[in-house]
Amino acid sequence: MRRTALFIAFILVAAPAACLASQSAGLMRRAENLMDSAHAAAARGDVASAEGRYRLADGILAGIQERDPGHSPLEVRALRERCADEMAALAGEEVPEVAVHREEAPLPQDSVRVWSEMRREGGRDRSGQGLAQRVRKTGEGEYEVEKYAVHIYRSGGETAASCTCPDFMYRALEGGFACKHIWAVVFSERLLGPGQ
Ligand SMILES: [Zn+2]
Repeated sequence: MRRTALFIAFILVAAPAACLASQSAGLMRRAENLMDSAHAAAARGDVASAEGRYRLADGILAGIQERDPGHSPLEVRALRERCADEMAALAGEEVPEVAVHREEAPLPQDSVRVWSEMRREGGRDRSGQGLAQRVRKTGEGEYEVEKYAVHIYRSGGETAASCTCPDFMYRALEGGFACKHIWAVVFSERLLGPGQ
């Protein structure tokens, strides 16, 4: 009896912790990949997309600090510092005045597709509709909803979105659905077209 109770306690405590650690490790790799691609974008002079990717990487890292503070804290902090440094360096770059004709960037992996068949998971669409009035546009394709940043990406006629909240990073992204903040932007910007 006691052994069973101990086993159950172990499952309740250890299993979610292990799961969280592997999610955090995966998210950290994503942040590092984003920073690498941001660096590459900066090197070819695409300041806007470099900045967007650094910001997204920093949001992911901030999410790890918030949700799983014991996960490689020094490394996470060092990566955030690198993001901040490289973004500051970008701000000092001359942005070319004539946009060079270049290939459209693919939609980032850390995003979900925005389209009419989007999965409405766990009432997040309804919660998002309630938040639609509180969406603040902060830049081209950038929005603030509650304290989170939502990015809308467009490429080749497709639209995708990402959010810096833990629900998106730890659940929705894996499941391929949108968090309530993305839904809020979908509604406020009528991304699914009129009447949806
Ligand atoms: Zn969100």
